[in-house]
This record gives sequence, structure tokens and C-alpha cells, in this order.
Amino acid sequence: MKVARYYAPGDIRLEDAPAPQAGPGEVLLRVRNCSTCGTDVKIRHSGHPNMSPPQVMGHEIAGEIAGLGVGVAGWSVGDRVQVIAAIPDGTCEDCRAGRMTVCPHQLSMGYQFPGGFAEYTVVPREVLAVDGLTRIPEHVSFAEASLTEPLACVLNGQELARVGEGDTVVVVGSGPIGCLHVRLARARGAARIILVDVNAERLARAAELVHPDATVVSGEVDPVAAILEATGGRGADVVITAAASGRAQEDGVRMLARRGRLSLFGGLPKDQPMISVDANLVHYRELTLVGVNGSSPAHNKQALELIASGEVPVADLITHHLPLDRVLDGLDIVERGDAIKVTIEP
Ligand SMILES: [Zn+2]
Repeated sequence: MKVARYYAPGDIRLEDAPAPQAGPGEVLLRVRNCSTCGTDVKIRHSGHPNMSPPQVMGHEIAGEIAGLGVGVAGWSVGDRVQVIAAIPDGTCEDCRAGRMTVCPHQLSMGYQFPGGFAEYTVVPREVLAVDGLTRIPEHVSFAEASLTEPLACVLNGQELARVGEGDTVVVVGSGPIGCLHVRLARARGAARIILVDVNAERLARAAELVHPDATVVSGEVDPVAAILEATGGRGADVVITAAASGRAQEDGVRMLARRGRLSLFGGLPKDQPMISVDANLVHYRELTLVGVNGSSPAHNKQALELIASGEVPVADLITHHLPLDRVLDGLDIVERGDAIKVTIEP
């Protein structure tokens, strides 16, 4: 079979490999869709501390069960399933307290375990142990189901930032994650959603799909002034930075209304992690700054339900369907920002 394997920064190889087999407690998966994300581009250029090269990449995985290892119960060959990306151990103090997204022993598909840029991959027993395999409803396509994982992360972010009824929500960054944030905020009852991006063209394309109530081109106007003006001077209840930009995070603090919440959704480059915040704004206005680290198995199940029910449609966000031998083109397209979402169909 063909796989896309990471060896070192700048060195991802498309190569032939023997098809894997399901060992005891494991499930063999025929991968139907594995979507790409900004993290794959980051890994391509700089690797990742959790990556064990050489390794098959790809973590937004949906497919069909092709084989069952000894001792696997409750699943059949032919079942259509979605796989979690981040795998908590399920047993540590954080996991037992329900904080699976910050499990310090977290492992990941496509990092420590072979991922989904392959015709076949193995669902490890660690995934089954935390209920990380979910049946895809019949009317949901594999491509749509592969967006479950990014939507699950977006859901975790909006739960932590307490996005709800009547909120004015600012989403900074109009890539696939920003688009999912707009749609989820709408589904959660936000009253007004403003989408911000430095790039006017990218912003217009995203806005055409996800229909925010207003847009701000932060490359052309001061986004803080624009948000304050759009909210009658009050500011936003929630600002979500879906961009790897310290400047966007600093601006985000200044866009918030009293009791506002800033979600630092996008991480910063590891050599530039510092930002500058007026702590007195946080103090007197009772602001909350909140992080987010992936999603739990439960978030994945809820995210797939949101897709299946139509509350968060995703099919139209997938702008490119590519075969596995074009995975490097796919990563180029993601990097150039020419796509909303690129999905690979091995
Ligand atoms: Zn844990």
C-alpha cells in the first residue's frame, strides 16, 4: 500500500509499505478520508516534539473497518467509523477528573502511532480503551466525518470560553478553524458574529460560505477600533484567535467587553510565545483568558452529532478532494491559503 511518511523537517516521502495487521485488541481500518490541517504543514517544516519519525502522518481520520484483532468486541468488518486524534490515557488524575484534553500522557494518531495518510491504518487499543472510535451515521460521508476532529477541538474551545445565547463573538482568522468557529457559535445561539482576517480575499471567500454578521479586514483597518465601533463601544463577549498571531491575542484582550472571554485557540510559534497584556484591563473588567488543547473522546462524539444533525454543516468547507499521491500538493495548497479544507482520499 501507499503511505505518506514523515522522516525529518522538509522530508515527507510517499512510499510503498506492507499493509498493517490488527494485533490483539486492535482494529484494522481502510482509510477513506484523512483531512489535512495547519499542524501537518508545521510538522512538514519543523517536525513536532511528540513525533516519532519515521512516521505515517495524518490525524483527521475516517474509514471503514477492514479487520478485527483478537478480543475486539462490539465492532464488525464494514463498520464506518471516525477516530479520535489525541488519545488520553483515561486513568491519570486529570482524566479521572474529566479533564481528558490536558492528560499529561496524551498520545496521538499520526505522531506516536501511524496516522491516516495511508490506505490502511491500525486503530490502537489505546483508542478503544477511551471509547475513541465512533460510528458514522449512514447519511454522513467519510469526508464530512473526517472534519469531526477539528470541530471537536473548536467545541472544546467554545465550551471553555463559554460561548452561548446572545453573545457577540469575534473570530480572528478565516481559515477552516475560523469557519468552524463561526458555524458553531451560531449553533450555540450567539447573537452576533464578526469574522476578522488580515487578508481581504481570504476573508471574503470564507464569509461567502459561513455568513458572519460582519467582517473586518485587519490588514486595512485597526481591528480593535473596528470592533469597538461595531459594538457601540462595549466590545465583544468572546474573542477567539484562530491564528498563530501574538498580535491578534494582544488585540483580542482590548476588544473584550466587561466579563469578556478571550480564547487563545491558535498556538504561537514556539520561539515567539510571549505577548504583552494590560493586567489592569483583565483585573477591572473581570476578563478571562483561556487556552485550549485539542479535544476529548466525548467532544468527538458530540462533534459528529453536530455534523450529522446539520447544526454544523461541513461538506461545503471541503474545497479540495485529492488522492494520496497528491498529499504534498495538498499541504502546499493549505500553506498558501488557497483552500478552506483539503481532504485526502487514499
Ligand atoms: Zn490522563
